[in-house]
Amino acid sequence: MNICKSFIGGEWVSVTATESAPVFNPALGEIIAEVPLADAALVDAAAQAAQAAFPGWRETPAVDRANILFRYKALLEAEFEAIALIISTEHGKTLGEARGDLRRGIQMVEYACGAPTLLMGESLENIARGIDCDVIRQPLGVCAGIVPFNFPAMVPLWMFPLALACGNTFILKPSEKVPLTATRLAELLDAAGLPKGVFNVVNGGRAVVDALLVHPLVRAISFVGSTPVARHIFDTGTRHGKRVQAAGGAKNFILVMPDATVTESVRGLVEAAFGCAGERCMAGSTAIAIGKAKDSVIPELVAAAKSIRVGAAFRDASAGMGPVITAQHRDRVETLIGVGEAEGARVAADGRSVRVADAPNGFYVGPTVLDGLAPDASLLREEIFGPVLGVVHMDDLDSAIEMANRSAYGNGAAIFTNSGRAAREFKHRINAGMVGINVAVPAPMAFFPFSGWNESFFGDLHLQGREGVAFYTQQKVTTSRWFAPGEGDVWAK
Ligand code: NAD
Repeated sequence: MNICKSFIGGEWVSVTATESAPVFNPALGEIIAEVPLADAALVDAAAQAAQAAFPGWRETPAVDRANILFRYKALLEAEFEAIALIISTEHGKTLGEARGDLRRGIQMVEYACGAPTLLMGESLENIARGIDCDVIRQPLGVCAGIVPFNFPAMVPLWMFPLALACGNTFILKPSEKVPLTATRLAELLDAAGLPKGVFNVVNGGRAVVDALLVHPLVRAISFVGSTPVARHIFDTGTRHGKRVQAAGGAKNFILVMPDATVTESVRGLVEAAFGCAGERCMAGSTAIAIGKAKDSVIPELVAAAKSIRVGAAFRDASAGMGPVITAQHRDRVETLIGVGEAEGARVAADGRSVRVADAPNGFYVGPTVLDGLAPDASLLREEIFGPVLGVVHMDDLDSAIEMANRSAYGNGAAIFTNSGRAAREFKHRINAGMVGINVAVPAPMAFFPFSGWNESFFGDLHLQGREGVAFYTQQKVTTSRWFAPGEGDVWAK
């Protein structure tokens, strides 16, 4: 049995713990590893190691820090297929999706390699006669990252490459459901030549998180996960004087106008709803078919959903969709499909009956379409996080925007249309931070902020892009004045 270790001060250490969590291959329903759940003492050891490494790393020139990240990028590329297989095996997503997960993460490493430029300050001479002012960015110290299960590579890589590039040291708390990818990411970072203690991994669950939230040496916390936990992280972390960015859950709406291109709308809806088995914070989990779109798009959508083959995607390249993460999660998704049905929706494609012959114990739910959900259905408020697409029928753009804007979340939203006017109206009025126009999953690339709103994000500065740089640095403003010999100087005379 593979027993996960933690990485403290440059050494892989065995964790002695009273509790541990199983890591599954969800496609087979088999346990493939075990994570001993660390306690506050190991968090303290990681924080001490990160603090001890901070002065040396802070003094390391930005170009030298970037050079380690260039080597890291090369190692990630060399191991690309092997890491994708680890992701697919412990998460369940297809190998193609796993490659996308890692590719997005590597793009963050590439972005962080630009540290010397990203960290440049600003200056203005003569703010008053003979007085100059400049602002520089300096690192914070020890930063921590707490991550979810659904993007085992991308989400950790949203955080630590940029934090390190900015001169901080880091503690990563991987998801206990997918710790194997994080382990490989850490091994390769070590191989890239990072000094000991600059990057640490503490494997565990809630106890580790709670210890990080109150540890006096931890200056900043990046979190990605569900909304209740994001709110807890933000409240507790900020109460303990930490800078916090906490990305939460989502419920994303995709509007289809009657003038939309049918094939592209269907392709987009299928990708948004069923990609990664719906386990994405940018999943398009509700379609709003406006006017005649109902007749043109929905039948094709249902046919496309039914044609997706579910299977053990880590070893079966022909599978279009893998399992969900755990048996409990599969049961919850199936229950919620039943709730939609009880609320009056037609189960036009039913994933509850799916069976995978060569993997009978895997955690599978097939693509599901709940057609004709009422605008006040409870499922429209709840993040399902599975391959379930709810479809609402509405008469016009106005009522569709109003309905979408009643959501408590505000991560992504998209519209399919050929009308510039409708697209402009949607972009202007929709209450969400990431908008797609004929793009179903508008997840921004590394150099733009991952800009969730409302209950999808707690904090001010988002992950990725310049906001990420601002989050991982503090600004120092210097006002300076130099005197000419003898000028205004009594004691020099
Ligand atoms: P989760 O909130 O259950 O867990 C996230 C992390 O928090 C894990 O490391 C876990 O160990 C820890 N954790 C869980 N419960 C905790 C508690 N009570 N106290 C302290 N720590 C706790 O999320 P998940 O199920 O791993 O991931 C799915 C969620 O993440 C979805 O809601 C999804 O929308 C969200 N997500 C959001 C984004 C985004 O950018 N907004 C991106 C990816 C995933």
